[in-house]
Amino acid sequence: MNRQPINFNADELRALDRSHHLHPFTDHKSLDGEGGTRIITHADGVYLWDSAGRRMLDGMSGLWCVNIGYGRKELAEAAYRQMLELPYYNTFFKTSHVPAIELATKVARLLPERFNKVFFVNSGSEANDTIFRLVRHYNNVRGKPQKKAFIARHNAYHGSTMASASLGGMAGMHAQGDLPLAGIHHVLQPHWFDLGGDLSPDEFGLKAAKAVEDKILELGPDNVAAFIGEPIQGAGGVIIPPRTYWPEINRICKTYDVLLISDEVICGFGRTGEWFGLDTFGIEADIVPMAKGLSSGYLPIGAVAVCDEVANYLYEHGGEFLHGYTYSGHPAACAVALENIRILEEEGLVDRVRRLAPYFHEKLMTLADHPIIGEVRSVGLIGACELTRNKKTRARFDKLGRVGLICRDHCFNGGLIMRSCFDTMVVAPPFVITEQQIDDLVAAARHAFDLTYQDVKSEIE
Ligand SMILES: *Cc1c(COP(=O)(O)O)cnc(C)c1O
Repeated sequence: MNRQPINFNADELRALDRSHHLHPFTDHKSLDGEGGTRIITHADGVYLWDSAGRRMLDGMSGLWCVNIGYGRKELAEAAYRQMLELPYYNTFFKTSHVPAIELATKVARLLPERFNKVFFVNSGSEANDTIFRLVRHYNNVRGKPQKKAFIARHNAYHGSTMASASLGGMAGMHAQGDLPLAGIHHVLQPHWFDLGGDLSPDEFGLKAAKAVEDKILELGPDNVAAFIGEPIQGAGGVIIPPRTYWPEINRICKTYDVLLISDEVICGFGRTGEWFGLDTFGIEADIVPMAKGLSSGYLPIGAVAVCDEVANYLYEHGGEFLHGYTYSGHPAACAVALENIRILEEEGLVDRVRRLAPYFHEKLMTLADHPIIGEVRSVGLIGACELTRNKKTRARFDKLGRVGLICRDHCFNGGLIMRSCFDTMVVAPPFVITEQQIDDLVAAARHAFDLTYQDVKSEIE
């Protein structure tokens, strides 16, 4: 059901894009070749259309954010109403406004009871930069100025600004900009498929948790402020830790008075079938960054929730926190986030994710027997398929990421947006996806895997 092409000259637009637009996460040389950029023109539900009028099933909810799906008029109307009422005012210097107050209250109520305070930002990166400053400030105020180190994981993603890219564990990002910042240490990620060797997943989960404890002991507990992790590593390749991992991390962080930060930018607001990843995995977090799903991506907004112990201490002893953004708690973004949460609640979309999860898992698992797929995994509506040249040894293809890109292009050409994280094919569709659309997604993925197999058959062992 491809719609009519939009009436403009796509080639001309692509030329202008190439001339003037610096893209995030893009090798601009790749835009010079055949094709150039794909121009997305409109969207509805789980579908996107490009300038050629081609329809694509968005298996990635944009960048893991458009959780309620595209085309929800209520969100546009919420922004419109708010812009007429009060388009902008700040929340600095003892001022506030209705949408920020309502949203802070709402977010605090969705989180476990120990969270009652919420700081607004405009993105996940800003959320993590805010936490980096807040935690350092907190330990200064409580007379532990040497307790500053952050522990994070290799291959984590926490954003693109200086502190958040440093907290992330992407070697390629660190190489650009001389990162990480001092005082940030990376340890083993709980990625059994790549790193588990002969250990069972449960054994490996304990080993990965122990890497955190070893690092704390190496640095000295008095020098370690916080540990940060995504409940499920998203951009790293939808890495779902073995079930032994998070309980052990809880224990370790408690033992050494290390703050536990659960980066809920992807998992938050229903992705795992609960409101937060910390609910799904039982993570006893102290600080929670969130963004993406907070507004389903309709407007930029993020937040940091701070537990009572930290927030109350800073309230008593911290004085003014000299930190904030012009658009912290932007009224229109808050109004859209509130409307998004209203829809999630009233339409039972988080329950829907939980209800669809077994179906989604079962259908994805039908891909596990494919000759280039080494593992399939999912939780809620987020999943991954590992490309491998040897199903037994879980060996990767040469030049990590090369076959993933081949596969991603086959997905695109088959009308499915699936992302490649190196050689891991990942999906995170909108919560409104139907069973029929899940079937379509899996059929299109299988077709793309078949074509990829044809391309790399000679490398398969
Ligand atoms: C996307 C993401 C971020 C960064 O969010 P931005 O809004 O892109 O700055 C941080 N953490 C996680 C887990 C993410 O997936």
